[in-house]
Amino acid sequence: AATPSDSPTIFDKIINKEIPSTVVYEDDQVLAFRDISPQAPTHILIIPKVKDGLTGLSKAEERHCEILGRLLYTAKLIAKQEGLDDGFRIVINDGPKGCQSVYHIHVHLLGGRQMTWPAG
Ligand code: 5GP
Repeated sequence: AATPSDSPTIFDKIINKEIPSTVVYEDDQVLAFRDISPQAPTHILIIPKVKDGLTGLSKAEERHCEILGRLLYTAKLIAKQEGLDDGFRIVINDGPKGCQSVYHIHVHLLGGRQMTWPAG
């Protein structure tokens, strides 16, 4: 099981194309790809290409504000690209109690079905 640390994660291998993923968006700062275990018809992970200590949102510093904004803005672009015009959900799991399993910050974009609240 993953533990909170600043070690490389599977996402580095995805960024470096050492393991395959279905990329839906890429630019110089951000990569977005389909989750291997989708929890909704659309389930995409949006990550910074450079982690810069941002293992999770709880580790955010002032210098991360720009990339944090870019992750959310990219989520909006992809939601549009995926046709999620009736709504979608953004999730950031943090730490063991937040069910975070990969310690490279990532935004989940979920859509294509009715979500419920607070869980599922
Ligand atoms: P977390 O639980 O940390 O918020 O989310 C990690 C996500 O990464 C999970 O939804 C999991 O399915 C996804 N994931 C883990 N390993 C891989 C992988 O090798 N490829 C892809 N595409 N997704 C992965």
